[in-house]
Amino acid sequence: MMSWKECVRQVEPYTPGEQPKEQNVIKLNTNENPYGPSEKVRHCEMDYDLLRKYPDPAASDLVNTLAEYHHVDPAQVFVGVGSDDVLAMAFLTFFNSGRPILFPDISYSFYPVWAELYKIPFETQALTEDFRIEPSDYLKENGGVVFPNPNAPTARLLPLEEVEKIVAGNPDVVVIVDEAYIDFAPEGSSAISLLDRYDNLLVVRTFSKSRSMAGLRIGYAIGQKELIACMQAVKYSFNSYTMNRPSILYGCASVEDEAYFRETVGKIITTREWFTKELKALGFDVIPSAANFVFASHKEVPAEEIFRKARERGIFFRYFKLPRIDNFLRITIGTDEEMKTVIDFLTLDIMHKK
Ligand SMILES: *Cc1c(COP(=O)(O)O)cnc(C)c1O
Repeated sequence: MMSWKECVRQVEPYTPGEQPKEQNVIKLNTNENPYGPSEKVRHCEMDYDLLRKYPDPAASDLVNTLAEYHHVDPAQVFVGVGSDDVLAMAFLTFFNSGRPILFPDISYSFYPVWAELYKIPFETQALTEDFRIEPSDYLKENGGVVFPNPNAPTARLLPLEEVEKIVAGNPDVVVIVDEAYIDFAPEGSSAISLLDRYDNLLVVRTFSKSRSMAGLRIGYAIGQKELIACMQAVKYSFNSYTMNRPSILYGCASVEDEAYFRETVGKIITTREWFTKELKALGFDVIPSAANFVFASHKEVPAEEIFRKARERGIFFRYFKLPRIDNFLRITIGTDEEMKTVIDFLTLDIMHKK
């Protein structure tokens, strides 16, 4: 007997970081930004009567604002419901050759999920011993390449020249650079500066981390016009109204407050550097971070134990029980006060020092 169960698309879903229900916790497990959106967003007038109407399917206000911000043509910008939506759409659009796509073995764990969902063959490429992406690993025959830069969960930045080697070495497939954390990296690290020269490059960004708007779900991609037009065609074959009116409005308001954006990103970088130094003093190995989180491992105390004890104290880190990284903790950079509490907890409850 046939069962409907044999017709079902069976997938192993992505597991997002825990969103604890308790209020009084220090939540450093999903790389959210502690500072909240700009005052411009808070004071934005939303015309609720407009909610009865469908939003602009092209989200032109937001597209134009982002195009101006990045000095590109509006036809080079694709917006979506968080970069997860943008990435999913890019996988569906560009990875359709039957050849395996390539991404690092330690990377954003959503990539293999989309590949499985869309039945895209993939091959992971091992990061080096010290968790670097080796560009020459991505120069073999493939159906496309995707990697985060800075990488997640390692936080390590691949220098722009190395990114360019991967893009230049793959002229006949699309290379997606997922720049979810690039605003926390040194100036000049973004692959957006390569866009004029490469028609196979897609750069993906999000408002969830540096712009502190994870709750609104805004992501975007920038590429040459032809690439973006292909994504639009797929999007309009799927769901025309992906961006709701509040997201378009608040998204524009956020981009218009450059001063607040720079100030809060700068604060997180300063806190990250201080926190890294403190962790090292406690005997942690910390991978140099260009993101709003650090990836750290202790020489003596297992990461899983620290993760568990922290959780009991209401401090949430991210722990992945996965090969190669099961002795690492991924810790989001919160406020100075939160990070001081973390250092106190590690000093007293883990290292048993005064
Ligand atoms: C957070 C994250 C995303 C997704 O962000 P959205 O909230 O969907 O915009 C994409 N890629 C990486 C590497 C991330 O860490």
